[in-house]
Amino acid sequence: MEQVLKHPVDELLAAYSAGSLPLSQALCVSAHLEHCAGCVQKLQRLNRVGSELMQQLEPAPASSRLKENLLARLDSLVDEEPPAVTTDPSVPRCLRQFVASDFAHLDWKRVSPDIHSVELCRDSNGAKVELIRIRPGGVSPAHTHDGDEYTVILEGSFSDERGVYQKGDFVFNDGNHHHSPVATQDRECICLAVTEGPPRFTGFFARLLNPLVRRSYA
Ligand SMILES: [Zn+2]
Repeated sequence: MEQVLKHPVDELLAAYSAGSLPLSQALCVSAHLEHCAGCVQKLQRLNRVGSELMQQLEPAPASSRLKENLLARLDSLVDEEPPAVTTDPSVPRCLRQFVASDFAHLDWKRVSPDIHSVELCRDSNGAKVELIRIRPGGVSPAHTHDGDEYTVILEGSFSDERGVYQKGDFVFNDGNHHHSPVATQDRECICLAVTEGPPRFTGFFARLLNPLVRRSYA
C-alpha cells in the first residue's frame, strides 16, 4: 500500500509561514497545527528562518500616512473588548469565526443517507470550505475532484484505500486520486474539507448516470 503522509508537506508549511497560502488551505494547516506538536515545531523553525531573512533586508522608509494608520489601528485593537468565549472547546480556534456554538447546531444539509455537509465559506480562488459529517460506518461515494482536496479530521476517524486517518490528521488528494472514505463504526466522523473543484463520482453514481447519458445519444 502506498505510504500516506498525515501532515502538510514542508512546502505547504513554508508557504503558511510566509503568509502566502490561500485562506482555505491556511485554515486546514491551522486546524492541523492545533493537534500536531511536530508540525508546530517545524513551523517555529521556518518562522525563525523567515525573520532572519527579513532582518538581512534593507528597511524601506515608511510614509508618515502609513505610520498614522498603523498607530490608529493599534489603538483600536487595544480598545476592543475580547469576544465572549462560548464556543465548544472541541471546535478548532481557527474555525470559531464560522461555528458559533458547536458542530451539532450548524445548518447541515443532507448529501446522502450517510453524509451531511455545511459550507463555511468560499475562498477568493473559488475553493469551497466546508464541514463534512459521516455517520458511524457511513460511506462516501467513490469520487475524484477536478482540483486538489485538503481534509483535516476534526472528530472520529475514517479510512480509505490508503489507510486510517485519526483526529487531527491532514490528508491531501490531487485530482488524479480516486478514493471512497468510510467512517469507522464507533462514532460519527467530522472533517474540514477544502475542494478546488466539484467531485466527479466514479462508482455507484457513474453507473447510474452512464445508461441515461448513452440513451440520450440513441
Ligand atoms: Zn503534523
